[in-house]
Amino acid sequence: MASVFSKIISKEIPCYKIAENQDFIAFLDINPNSLGHTLCVPKIEVDNFLDLEKKSYNKLMSFSRNVALAIKQVVPCKRIGMSLIGLEVPHVHVHLIPISNMKDMQFIKKIKLNHNQFDSLAKEINSVYTLSNSI
Ligand code: AMP
Repeated sequence: MASVFSKIISKEIPCYKIAENQDFIAFLDINPNSLGHTLCVPKIEVDNFLDLEKKSYNKLMSFSRNVALAIKQVVPCKRIGMSLIGLEVPHVHVHLIPISNMKDMQFIKKIKLNHNQFDSLAKEINSVYTLSNSI
């Protein structure tokens, strides 16, 4: 069965999209640790990041870096934390989490956003990402 992220990639279910190219998509986490918490996902459905081909892994990290730079321009924070977990969704994804302290990296502290807040935040980060990556 297709993962929930494959369903997002095939547009079966919606997301608050931040960035997309041929190989990857980035969208806001629906249950965020902090404002701007984003997931970067390869379009190929692989469970564990250690099973990605090295080239794909390196491309995922490069894509995630570009997304993180855009998030950092929009969301006030000390830095962007990065985490790979995958206990809930067995489809590789990089968590990019704007953080001000270690607690922001704990997946027990959550914030709530409504549809309009998710939507406008995604659009704002997407604009910065698009501007920075359009050559
Ligand atoms: P994990 O697999 O443990 O790294 O966690 C999966 C993450 O995916 C969690 O932070 C969820 O909130 C997030 N998530 C699950 N379904 C969706 C969805 N439909 N859209 C956005 N984020 C999701």
